[in-house]
Amino acid sequence: MRLTNQIFKPLSSKIDWCEPNYYYTQFIAELWNTVSNLPLIVLPIYLMFLYKDYSVKVQSCKYANIIWLLLLITGLGSVYFHATLSLFGQFMDEMGILWICCSVAALWLPNNYLPRCCNVNRLRHNEDFQSIAYSGLYFWIAALICWLMDRFLCPFWLGISFPYLHGFWHILIAFGSYKACVCYSYCFALKNCSVTPVLTFYKVVHSWNWCGLWFVNFKLTETV
Ligand SMILES: [Zn+2]
Repeated sequence: MRLTNQIFKPLSSKIDWCEPNYYYTQFIAELWNTVSNLPLIVLPIYLMFLYKDYSVKVQSCKYANIIWLLLLITGLGSVYFHATLSLFGQFMDEMGILWICCSVAALWLPNNYLPRCCNVNRLRHNEDFQSIAYSGLYFWIAALICWLMDRFLCPFWLGISFPYLHGFWHILIAFGSYKACVCYSYCFALKNCSVTPVLTFYKVVHSWNWCGLWFVNFKLTETV
């Protein structure tokens, strides 16, 4: 009982980020690090809807939506962690990331590890794939830079009153992870599906060309 109390206790985690604790409200330990998880919650919900066909058409991937579900759980775990900085929150946050890495590897990696995948001719000439892959990579690099700078240069960021880089990490890693998953799922479908997969941009707001999400759609006619 005492152990249970201990792990749920606010501030029981040894990890603390640069943002000052309980600065904006007495109810949330790190406000901006908590709300910056919004993309990690909203994107997977949209993608579960967009990937409905994928789970049906790609054999052996009928549980593809589990990736988006795990991403959503990671987002919620991260919200809980940054809101409380409890040991259990830290466990939820870190386990979610591990679950996703394992699930992506189990679902899409064995037949499609990246170097070979990038050398497939159809991918080399597919501009949409290249642009999603490169932008995803840039998001990952920017996210890692933010994470490292928040972790190791905290006194500097506090000195200029900008201790929010961990929040930027959340936003950038949400987009980087979604793009990586779209690329992996597309590579996998290219090799394992009798229907030709097509990278499609779903506009969330119709009049804004930039506001949308990529997903794997399928051509109506079957390949021979
Ligand atoms: Zn975090």
